[in-house]
Amino acid sequence: MTETVTALTHLEAAEELIRGERGAIQIVGRALTPEEERRLAALAEADAAITVAVGHLTQTPCTNGKETISFLPDGRYAFAGITFAATLRVDTDVCGIVSGDVFALAGETQEYLLSFRTVPGKTVDGESTELLVIGEDADGQLSTGRLEILSHQDRVATISICFDEALRGFRPNHAEQMTGRHESTAMRTLGIEIEHEIGTEGNPQWTFNGRTLDITRCFQDAGFDVRRIGHASEIPEAPGVGWDSSQLHGLMSDYAQASLDRSDWELHLLLLSRAAEPRLLGIMFDSGRGDMNLLPRQGAAVFQDPMQSLGPTWRRKLLQTSVHELGHALNLAHPFEREIGRADSTSFMNYDWKYMGGDSVARYWQDFTFTFNDEELSFLRHGRRSAVIPGGDGFHTVPYWKQGDGGYVPYKPDRPTSAFSLQLTTPDNDGIFNFGQPVLLTVTFHNHLLRPFTLPPFYLDPKAGFLSFVVNRIGGSLSPDVGAGSVFRPIVMRCYDFDPATADTIPSNGSMRNNVNLTYGSAGFTFAEPGEYVVTARLELRFQANDYLTMYSAPMRIRVAYPKTDDEERIGMRLLRNDIGCYFALGGSDVLNKAESDLIEIEERLQGKDEYIANGLVANIRRCRAINTAREFVSYVDGKYMHRSANPAKARSLLSSVGPAMSRFFDPATADYTRAMLSTEDENAAK
Ligand SMILES: [Zn+2]
Repeated sequence: MTETVTALTHLEAAEELIRGERGAIQIVGRALTPEEERRLAALAEADAAITVAVGHLTQTPCTNGKETISFLPDGRYAFAGITFAATLRVDTDVCGIVSGDVFALAGETQEYLLSFRTVPGKTVDGESTELLVIGEDADGQLSTGRLEILSHQDRVATISICFDEALRGFRPNHAEQMTGRHESTAMRTLGIEIEHEIGTEGNPQWTFNGRTLDITRCFQDAGFDVRRIGHASEIPEAPGVGWDSSQLHGLMSDYAQASLDRSDWELHLLLLSRAAEPRLLGIMFDSGRGDMNLLPRQGAAVFQDPMQSLGPTWRRKLLQTSVHELGHALNLAHPFEREIGRADSTSFMNYDWKYMGGDSVARYWQDFTFTFNDEELSFLRHGRRSAVIPGGDGFHTVPYWKQGDGGYVPYKPDRPTSAFSLQLTTPDNDGIFNFGQPVLLTVTFHNHLLRPFTLPPFYLDPKAGFLSFVVNRIGGSLSPDVGAGSVFRPIVMRCYDFDPATADTIPSNGSMRNNVNLTYGSAGFTFAEPGEYVVTARLELRFQANDYLTMYSAPMRIRVAYPKTDDEERIGMRLLRNDIGCYFALGGSDVLNKAESDLIEIEERLQGKDEYIANGLVANIRRCRAINTAREFVSYVDGKYMHRSANPAKARSLLSSVGPAMSRFFDPATADYTRAMLSTEDENAAK
């Protein structure tokens, strides 16, 4: 026994040294060098090895009677058994929840098995050491279970966990014991890489209640150990028209190439001057697991120029927007969404112009305390690992707002309206698309009122979140239930600012329209199989004070033709690659080289020597290439930024062969944008 105690004392001393060294590296106040990153990783490994050693030494708890076991102090614990490792998060103070993640130990690596949390609605008070939990494994299986604190002394504890049903790696009703220790007062760890454009603010700060807050502080307050990571090179100035989504997707991909070995709890934030779209404040990249840049929900960008009109308080908005975008990357949604119904939320995740339904910007900033709301905090601190972790579950697929403990203020129910209508239009192709041909539609909002009506100009941009699309496959294997359609989610999400002075006015009996590209979203290809689909557009809008409408278009039938020849089928299958989907979704890209060269090859094969284009796929490939040629592109290669100029003349020549058949290949809005590209030097007109 004394030997064990001596060994434990030595291990603790070693651990103390390691922790001190880790702390010293972490707080250097700048991004870490690769050498420092490597040292930090080595120290973390040494620390984990000590935790395992301590676990082995204390496996058999001392049997000195039935003393009461004190509850674990709040914080994060690292546990290890023979075959399992676990992280436990004890949180009696903020959320009243205990949660954790379990991993299988396999040599050097850990395989994620499941997450668990105490039963929703039951607050953990720190009295009982036996807790009812719900586990959910990586396959989505659920089971109730029990977590028991078996012993606890000086922040070293032994727990047992047991589930009623089989979960991945767990037999039913089998108690697994693990020993571990307190690691941190924070619930989770998060690495944040911030890069900024030359001439922009690189470290947003705001003093609130006597504390100087920055991005790191805000996430620390939410329960994260935050670590600044990455290379702090300055991004060159924005291209003339501002940064567009494809360009930024390209930069994020370049960064990812430089650091593919990074673990998942890491976020990348770009602080930039301005976007190509006016009044765009922030975007979050969500291009799905299959994307070549491996960055679903791992990166965001924030644009400062539109905020500067606010005067001295613009930095407050910059900090709020930066945390807001990173919040999206951690899978938080907008609380004002109808589905969530928390327009009264003073969270980072609300928009000031949507607060209390609108017209309450000043009030939002009065009420805002630089915090997330309760259900967001529970989710960030205790949500299932894959639901929260950047790169995990798809954005908006985890309805954490339904698991809250109240405070839910639902909107009034939908009501039908004859005031407005929403219409979808296909190209002049009777709604029949070739297998593999991109699907773009025009969406038109009609105002049937006897007076003008105003809408924010971005309302018909699906990336802004107010306009959405439900897609049903008729029959087939993708979605056998008609009616159980899936909601299309774009690979980029955009958060806009709104000033009523900049609203678009739609006259009585007038309309407003936009093109929407449904080809490829964060869940992959929307029309991945030949057959019939029904697409319905849905728009949420504020009619007048406290009167909200959800409008639906008439269902639009889309037919994806079966390939007529083997060659056509082969081409169609080749097109169903994620990089090609991204290429179509982004209007081309300099970083998706393989996609581009394959598309050019397909285009040449289909087009041959013909002067005019007769194939919708060829027309769409040409259009994407033209859009990309007409934009400037900044890339990051081998630690240096490279600039490629725009070439509008070449873009026009790519499109000239589309010529007379424009309306057969493109819906009316896309055809208009394409014609505008043909007739002007101004690449701004392209969309
Ligand atoms: Zn947002």
